[in-house]
Amino acid sequence: MDKQVIVPISMLPFGMLNAYLIIRKQRAILIDTGLPNSANRIEKVLKKAGLEWLHIDLIILTHGHIDHVGSAHHARVLSSAPIVAHAGDVPYIQDGKRPMLNPTGTFGKFFIKTRAIEQPFKYFQPDITMIDNELSLEDFGFRGRILHTPGHTPGSLSVFLDDGEVVAGDLVASGILLGGIMLKDRPKPPPFEEDRQAVLTSLKFLLNEGAKKFYLGHGGPLSAEHVDTFLRKQHRA
Ligand SMILES: [Zn+2]
Ligand SMILES: [Zn+2]
Repeated sequence: MDKQVIVPISMLPFGMLNAYLIIRKQRAILIDTGLPNSANRIEKVLKKAGLEWLHIDLIILTHGHIDHVGSAHHARVLSSAPIVAHAGDVPYIQDGKRPMLNPTGTFGKFFIKTRAIEQPFKYFQPDITMIDNELSLEDFGFRGRILHTPGHTPGSLSVFLDDGEVVAGDLVASGILLGGIMLKDRPKPPPFEEDRQAVLTSLKFLLNEGAKKFYLGHGGPLSAEHVDTFLRKQHRA
């Protein structure tokens, strides 16, 4: 089978936190790794697809928050796959710099108080630090590109497959509270983001590139139409 498929890995129930596998010809890319101690969840989904850790050729981190990179070091040990992250988020991933948290609403304010996002995790050096705005997946045997889509964090990345499916991390969320649970086709900002204007520019850029479907860290997936409507509302606000 030559088709590329996106397989969600449910890290928290009800779509509250997702990582993803992209699978093609019995090889896989892992996008994000969940909170610390999430390796068994990743392994379960790999097994279900008939794969092992060693079938993973690349680990892409959409950004440096603990709910996305918490198990990255462990996943690299198990898979021997290189980790890609953008230079903009290396201080969070490698040096343990505390993330900048601008709440986007009431839930974000509450969530920051729990300090859940500021817990330490196993810091590490990425194998491939992206400085450019784009990295082709061709060398890894996949049809798509990693795109720099800053805003949620300075080094946020999106994985854009050639058929228009995009794994966009926390550039946008959907649902209620943290994301997911219900109303999953209703876009909303994640609990916090660093640069609102940059987020809107990045979303617009993805739509202009021909994005058709958005897979998200919290909630989703969203159609391009839903994201477009959301963007128009944000620009008016
Ligand atoms: Zn985040
Ligand atoms: Zn997140």
